[in-house]
Amino acid sequence: MGKPDGFLLYQRHEDGERACEARIQDYDEIRVSSGPENRRKQAARCMNCGVPYCQSAIKLNGMVTGCPLHNLIPEWNDHIYRGHDEHALHRLLKMNPFPEFTGRVCPALCEKACINGCDGDPVTIRDNERWLAETGFAQNLITPADIPVRSEKKVAVVGSGPAGLAAAYRLNIRSHHVTVYERDENPGGLLMYGIPNMKLDKKVIQRRTELMAAEGVTFVTSTAVGQDISMDQLLQQYDAVILACGARQARMPAVEGIEETGGVIKAVDYLSETTRHIPSLPAVSAEGKNVVILGGGDTGNDCVATAIRQKCASVTQIEMMPAPPAERRDDNPWPEWPKVLKTDYGQEEAIHVFGHDPRVFSKTVTTLIKEENRLKAVEIADIHFEDGRPVISEERETIPCDLLIIAAGFTGCEPGLPLSAGIELTKRNTVASAEGSYQTNVPAVFSCGDMHRGASLVVWAIREGLECARKVDEWLMGYTNLI
Ligand SMILES: Cc1cc2nc3c(=O)[nH]c(=O)nc-3n(C[C@H](O)[C@H](O)[C@H](O)COP(=O)(O)OP(=O)(O)OC[C@H]3O[C@@H](n4cnc5c(N)ncnc54)[C@H](O)[C@@H]3O)c2cc1C
Ligand code: SF4
Repeated sequence: MGKPDGFLLYQRHEDGERACEARIQDYDEIRVSSGPENRRKQAARCMNCGVPYCQSAIKLNGMVTGCPLHNLIPEWNDHIYRGHDEHALHRLLKMNPFPEFTGRVCPALCEKACINGCDGDPVTIRDNERWLAETGFAQNLITPADIPVRSEKKVAVVGSGPAGLAAAYRLNIRSHHVTVYERDENPGGLLMYGIPNMKLDKKVIQRRTELMAAEGVTFVTSTAVGQDISMDQLLQQYDAVILACGARQARMPAVEGIEETGGVIKAVDYLSETTRHIPSLPAVSAEGKNVVILGGGDTGNDCVATAIRQKCASVTQIEMMPAPPAERRDDNPWPEWPKVLKTDYGQEEAIHVFGHDPRVFSKTVTTLIKEENRLKAVEIADIHFEDGRPVISEERETIPCDLLIIAAGFTGCEPGLPLSAGIELTKRNTVASAEGSYQTNVPAVFSCGDMHRGASLVVWAIREGLECARKVDEWLMGYTNLI
């Protein structure tokens, strides 16, 4: 700890965001970095606690608190404060291969566990992380690793989201020959075609995958395993196969006709097609439409922000659960993840444009009102839960709707590929493996990320990818020196 009284001297000062009026005119990133002077002060606020909950990832009350990657946060904050940026970067990269992703999109589980957060002002860990990663790139400190000796082993990774990328990165650095198969036209998974450009510029992903390619990873894009190449072929050509295909099965609400009605779209389809067409509009756009988003979570918020950029006529975000409290409840103390109401960037933009929060809580869509199979309005009703069962009120309200976006969560992986290869799934529709092994019932096949864990977060996908790589290395070599 460079400055013992740093947390008393300096206030928390987060990186800013572009003003709503300016940022809704484009799809550029909304966060604006503050310079090194502020970063050093923010790093000085870290107290290097005896028990750094921020990096511990301990389970409290059924939820993990702190960084799942065990990022060495107090160490690199200390180096940032002292101006030793290269040392800081080394310590950051020790645990996190892709800080430029997490520094942008991670919900910062670390900050919720920071002891400075007891008074509401945790260290700006995520901003510090992003700044350090970008400083590393700007100063040419992050360059392709030279891998002088190669093993004889070949590994195929199916899926290039953060889990597949993390596994590929580590196995390649370990000297194995790694090929990543991706059915989309570009690598990145939901980083590329899910999370909007406003949060994560797609050039950031391209920069990383180009770096990995320069390090020796082969990317085979526009190739769906199971269609363009079979699992049998992969198993013949490679010593091990890692399935990291994500958990893309959208949860569809039980509303009559929802699958067949024109004007209904799944959130990931809507967001990915928008990304593909920036700066023009995709075939299904919100321009001039009354938009209803079913799902009050983060994906729904990304859809709100996207619909606003497409100049929708109105936007309503429907959440079936009640609004969380504004402040932590007594039974949800620090350092647990705070279950409180947050107003995210898309909701802020909706408030700016339409003068009110787009969210309505304890509501659900009951009926689609159509003209010639095109959506015109939806009926919504109050909903509450008794003994875990939904109870929907008799009263209905009709709201105009020409575009209904389904952002109601995910129900696990697409089962076709694993089942065709005889790979067992869990009841939650994820790939089954013994705890911590990542190995499926087909010995040469491993799985990680959302496909294995269920829909989660980028930081968890990276952790699973790294741990899976370790298990694969152990299986291939009979031992491993990966951490
Ligand atoms: C809209 C949205 C916003 C999100 N925002 C955030 C956020 O801000 N912060 C955060 O931490 N998390 C966020 N998440 C969650 C996060 O994106 C995921 O948890 C994470 O991307 C999972 O990584 P993954 O590698 O397991 O799978 P994915 O990222 O889903 O990648 C799987 C890849 O496998 C490919 N694939 C599938 N089948 C095949 C096949 N047969 N052959 C070849 N390739 C195949 C897919 O095309 C895809 O590229 C968001 C999710 C969504 C949907
Ligand atoms: S990866 Fe997420 S939880 Fe870990 S240090 Fe970075 S922002 Fe915090």
